[in-house]
Amino acid sequence: MNPFWSTLVHNLSPYVPGEQPKMPDLVKLNTNENPYPPSARAVDAMREELGSDGASLRLYPDPNADRLRGAIVNHFADQALTPAQVFVGNGSDEVLAHAFMALLKHDAPILLPDISYSFYPVYCGLYGVDHITVPLNERFEICVDDFRQGNGGIVIANPNAPTGHLLRLAEIERLVAAHPTSVVVVDEAYIDFSEQVVPTAIALINRYPNLLVIRTLSKSHSLAGLRVGYAVGNAALIDALERVKNSFNSYPLDRLAIVGATAALGDKPHLEQTRQAVMQSRASLTDALERLGFDVLPSAANFIFTRHPQHDAAQLATELRQRKVIVRHFKLPRIDQHLRITVGTDTQCQLLVDALREILG
Ligand SMILES: *Cc1c(COP(=O)(O)O)cnc(C)c1O
Repeated sequence: MNPFWSTLVHNLSPYVPGEQPKMPDLVKLNTNENPYPPSARAVDAMREELGSDGASLRLYPDPNADRLRGAIVNHFADQALTPAQVFVGNGSDEVLAHAFMALLKHDAPILLPDISYSFYPVYCGLYGVDHITVPLNERFEICVDDFRQGNGGIVIANPNAPTGHLLRLAEIERLVAAHPTSVVVVDEAYIDFSEQVVPTAIALINRYPNLLVIRTLSKSHSLAGLRVGYAVGNAALIDALERVKNSFNSYPLDRLAIVGATAALGDKPHLEQTRQAVMQSRASLTDALERLGFDVLPSAANFIFTRHPQHDAAQLATELRQRKVIVRHFKLPRIDQHLRITVGTDTQCQLLVDALREILG
């Protein structure tokens, strides 16, 4: 018991991010980063903002990141959004954190799938939000009807992590409509990797005041290192997030992040190109793993979730690591025999498959 620590800090169970090893020439398939570089337009915009002497960094950034919020509105031109329906933050993790504090901390417990992004229960611990877990079915799918009434809110990822399963828009709508007095947070970190054309729940925002959709530029825009996430929802929900943000840090996005993210969202051809490349590699990796005897869950994300009926998952992860390939293994109930493997370039996927072939003998 450290006398300087608060009771809250003593009792926290922090999130453990996938490791970022310093070793060169690793095949890094453990944290769902995009294997392709970001938009060249984004890189140019950041260089321009920096200029030759970096003088613009003397000044604070726009606290409301208006340019970026405008770019988000334009990115979803079909959805008739307004800037008042958009909130931006330092990665979607920060946006999620604010949502827990601003919108999910109520008297009744919130509902979370039993298998989902493991940061959600960590925010519950940090902000004192009670939660109840709702089991996925035996195919590892979220069943909307299993979410009970009288909750303090609902948080799901769609596609879900680490399973990769996508709920269709009609199912999301059923969930949101069934809980009109709760905020339903839909974390769409991976939605751009879905084959479907318009799966995003942003299409429902103007009809459901209780829906908050959270997105990130970390995965599909290849900008995990820039830390940009956002939320889209009814203006009253966004106002709640703004109130928390302005009680915490007025400038969550720096100048480079604002211009880089703005340019990245404007580069639709780049998004389409990398998204297609990832989806193609996902299909060929799935085939290759199935040929090695793995069971692979259908994935709408840039990772696959897989198990081998004859080989222990933790052991496989260790042996892969000895061959310089790192994947993610979760020592958690129901999924400790699975591996989550990020879809890399075709070359990286081939190195993974070669290493597995060697291990399986
Ligand atoms: C990666 C991930 C995030 C975090 O994204 P950042 O914007 O990088 O903070 C949020 N939710 C899920 C489900 C993720 O997998």
